[in-house]
Amino acid sequence: MPPIVIFYIFAFIFGAVVGSFLNVCICRLPKKESIVFPPSHCPGCDYRIPWYDNIPILSYLILRGKCRSCKSPISLQYPLVELLNALLTLFLFMRFGPTLPFAVLFLFCSAMVVVTFIDLEHQIIPDVISLPGIVAGFVFSFFIPQLGWLNSLIGIVAGGGSLWLVASGYELLTKKEGMGGGDIKLLAMMGAFFGWKAIPFIIFVSSLVGSVIGVTVMLMQKKDAKLAIPFGPFLALGAVLYIFFGSQLISWYLSLSGISGG
Ligand SMILES: [Zn+2]
Repeated sequence: MPPIVIFYIFAFIFGAVVGSFLNVCICRLPKKESIVFPPSHCPGCDYRIPWYDNIPILSYLILRGKCRSCKSPISLQYPLVELLNALLTLFLFMRFGPTLPFAVLFLFCSAMVVVTFIDLEHQIIPDVISLPGIVAGFVFSFFIPQLGWLNSLIGIVAGGGSLWLVASGYELLTKKEGMGGGDIKLLAMMGAFFGWKAIPFIIFVSSLVGSVIGVTVMLMQKKDAKLAIPFGPFLALGAVLYIFFGSQLISWYLSLSGISGG
């Protein structure tokens, strides 16, 4: 086995272990509970979960999705978040290796996993993630020359400002609130981490995927049912796609439209 594979396995396991902690954040942040205390317990029977029942991904499979003590079902969210974060960490490591951008993007993606699952369940994006996220992205920009602090600062304004304009315009036209302040702060955070050039890409991808899924859901559901579709998960998806494919997709698009002249 080539030594690099050992690092890949380690990255996957590390991502899964952090994913296990992200599950705690997803469950407790919306309730404003502490994320460090008390230790994990079954919501059904208060059984305190021992370490051997708390192994990311594996424990869910071994226990066949049921609490060892009371046999009540364990949410599929737990192994899903662990697997998702494990894969994201592995792909980031394969792409960036042991560098500062890897560490920064690892933190960013972990935050996106939490945002996605909280927004899906509660239709909110906690300020405890987006506001420190804006600050963190700006601080990191001083240490990442490819980004730069000015680019990051303009990204914050462009990200927050553009969605704020869209939201205000929508409200003005329809007299309804369409987009929450949470989305605005989330896109400002993305601008802080990636600079202003990422903003059009993220808005384009998230609106495209969001409208396809939104229309599909609307067609599938009953006429008077009103299902709120949060926008945060689509923004998070757009940002993750930007990390892995942003520059390629942008230059591909520019070459199609002949702007790059290449
Ligand atoms: Zn139980």
